Amino acid sequence: MPEKTIFKRIIDGEISADVVYDDELCLAFRDINPQAPTHILVIPKKEIASVNELTAHDQALVGHLYLVIVRLADTYDLAATGYRVVVNTGTHGGQTVDHLHFHLLGGRAMQWPPG
Ligand code: AMP
Repeated sequence: MPEKTIFKRIIDGEISADVVYDDELCLAFRDINPQAPTHILVIPKKEIASVNELTAHDQALVGHLYLVIVRLADTYDLAATGYRVVVNTGTHGGQTVDHLHFHLLGGRAMQWPPG
Protein backbone atom coordinates (compact mmCIF):
# COMPACT_ATOMS: atom_id res chain seq x y z
CA MET A 1 0.00 0.00 0.00
CA PRO A 2 1.42 3.45 -0.88
CA GLU A 3 2.48 5.56 2.08
CA LYS A 4 -0.03 8.17 3.25
CA THR A 5 0.83 11.76 2.49
CA ILE A 6 1.27 14.15 5.41
CA PHE A 7 -2.03 15.80 4.43
CA LYS A 8 -3.91 12.47 4.45
CA ARG A 9 -2.49 11.88 7.94
CA ILE A 10 -3.87 15.29 9.00
CA ILE A 11 -7.29 14.39 7.51
CA ASP A 12 -7.23 11.07 9.39
CA GLY A 13 -6.33 12.82 12.65
CA GLU A 14 -2.94 11.12 12.96
CA ILE A 15 -1.09 14.46 12.91
CA SER A 16 -2.38 17.66 14.43
CA ALA A 17 -2.76 20.85 12.46
CA ASP A 18 -4.01 24.37 13.16
CA VAL A 19 -7.39 23.78 11.50
CA VAL A 20 -9.37 26.91 10.59
CA TYR A 21 -12.19 25.28 8.59
CA ASP A 22 -13.59 21.76 8.32
CA ASP A 23 -16.55 20.31 6.43
CA GLU A 24 -17.53 17.04 4.77
CA LEU A 25 -15.53 17.78 1.62
CA CYS A 26 -12.48 19.73 2.71
CA LEU A 27 -10.17 20.90 5.44
CA ALA A 28 -8.26 24.18 5.82
CA PHE A 29 -5.34 24.66 8.17
CA ARG A 30 -2.43 27.03 8.65
CA ASP A 31 0.76 26.26 6.74
CA ILE A 32 3.51 25.12 9.09
CA ASN A 33 6.04 27.30 7.25
CA PRO A 34 4.07 30.48 6.45
CA GLN A 35 5.15 32.60 3.49
CA ALA A 36 2.83 35.49 4.33
CA PRO A 37 1.11 36.83 7.47
CA THR A 38 -1.89 34.68 6.52
CA HIS A 39 -0.98 31.37 4.85
CA ILE A 40 -3.73 28.76 4.84
CA LEU A 41 -3.87 25.48 2.95
CA VAL A 42 -7.24 24.32 1.64
CA ILE A 43 -7.35 20.63 0.77
CA PRO A 44 -10.02 18.19 -0.39
CA LYS A 45 -10.62 15.20 1.88
CA LYS A 46 -10.72 13.08 -1.27
CA GLU A 47 -7.25 11.86 -2.17
CA ILE A 48 -6.26 13.65 -5.38
CA ALA A 49 -2.53 13.87 -5.99
CA SER A 50 -2.48 17.11 -7.97
CA VAL A 51 -4.30 19.28 -10.51
CA ASN A 52 -3.15 16.72 -13.10
CA GLU A 53 -5.38 14.06 -11.55
CA LEU A 54 -8.59 16.16 -11.56
CA THR A 55 -11.46 14.76 -13.65
CA ALA A 56 -14.96 15.91 -14.56
CA HIS A 57 -16.16 14.14 -11.39
CA ASP A 58 -14.28 16.75 -9.36
CA GLN A 59 -15.88 19.80 -10.98
CA ALA A 60 -18.22 20.56 -8.08
CA LEU A 61 -15.51 19.77 -5.52
CA VAL A 62 -13.11 22.32 -7.04
CA GLY A 63 -15.90 24.90 -7.06
CA HIS A 64 -16.53 24.14 -3.40
CA LEU A 65 -12.84 24.55 -2.53
CA TYR A 66 -12.83 27.97 -4.20
CA LEU A 67 -15.94 29.07 -2.32
CA VAL A 68 -14.25 28.04 0.94
CA ILE A 69 -11.27 30.17 -0.10
CA VAL A 70 -13.60 33.13 -0.65
CA ARG A 71 -15.12 32.56 2.79
CA LEU A 72 -11.68 32.34 4.45
CA ALA A 73 -10.48 35.47 2.64
CA ASP A 74 -13.46 37.25 4.14
CA THR A 75 -12.97 35.75 7.62
CA TYR A 76 -9.29 36.78 7.71
CA ASP A 77 -9.88 40.26 6.23
CA LEU A 78 -8.01 39.61 3.00
CA ALA A 79 -10.80 40.38 0.55
CA ALA A 80 -10.42 44.17 0.48
CA THR A 81 -6.62 44.31 0.15
CA GLY A 82 -6.34 41.21 -2.01
CA TYR A 83 -4.56 37.89 -1.76
CA ARG A 84 -3.06 35.14 -3.85
CA VAL A 85 -4.26 31.56 -4.43
CA VAL A 86 -1.47 29.22 -5.51
CA VAL A 87 -1.65 25.59 -6.61
CA ASN A 88 1.84 24.25 -7.16
CA THR A 89 1.79 21.27 -9.52
CA GLY A 90 4.54 18.75 -10.15
CA THR A 91 8.29 19.19 -9.98
CA HIS A 92 8.54 22.42 -11.98
CA GLY A 93 5.55 23.81 -10.13
CA GLY A 94 7.32 23.28 -6.81
CA GLN A 95 4.83 20.77 -5.41
CA THR A 96 6.22 18.96 -2.36
CA VAL A 97 3.11 17.19 -1.00
CA ASP A 98 1.26 14.88 -3.40
CA HIS A 99 -2.22 15.76 -2.18
CA LEU A 100 -4.04 18.57 -3.99
CA HIS A 101 -3.86 21.81 -1.99
CA PHE A 102 -4.62 25.45 -2.52
CA HIS A 103 -2.36 27.98 -0.79
CA LEU A 104 -4.26 31.08 0.36
CA LEU A 105 -1.67 33.80 0.94
CA GLY A 106 -2.40 37.29 2.16
CA GLY A 107 -1.55 40.10 4.52
CA ARG A 108 1.25 41.53 2.40
CA ALA A 109 1.78 42.68 -1.19
CA MET A 110 2.87 39.83 -3.47
CA GLN A 111 5.56 40.01 -6.13
CA TRP A 112 5.19 39.13 -9.81
CA PRO A 113 6.58 37.16 -11.58
CA PRO A 114 6.74 34.41 -8.95
CA GLY A 115 10.14 32.80 -8.39
P1 AMP B 1 3.68 22.61 -1.88
O1 AMP B 1 5.14 22.92 -1.83
O2 AMP B 1 2.90 23.49 -2.81
O3 AMP B 1 3.44 21.14 -2.13
O4 AMP B 1 3.10 22.97 -0.45
C1 AMP B 1 3.18 22.11 0.64
C2 AMP B 1 3.01 22.99 1.85
O5 AMP B 1 2.68 22.17 2.96
C3 AMP B 1 4.28 23.77 2.25
O6 AMP B 1 4.00 25.16 2.21
C4 AMP B 1 4.59 23.27 3.66
O7 AMP B 1 5.08 24.27 4.51
C5 AMP B 1 3.23 22.75 4.09
N1 AMP B 1 3.25 21.71 5.11
C6 AMP B 1 3.99 20.57 5.12
N2 AMP B 1 3.72 19.85 6.21
C7 AMP B 1 2.77 20.53 6.90
C8 AMP B 1 2.08 20.29 8.14
N3 AMP B 1 2.31 19.20 8.86
N4 AMP B 1 1.18 21.21 8.55
C9 AMP B 1 0.95 22.32 7.82
N5 AMP B 1 1.57 22.59 6.66
C10 AMP B 1 2.47 21.72 6.20
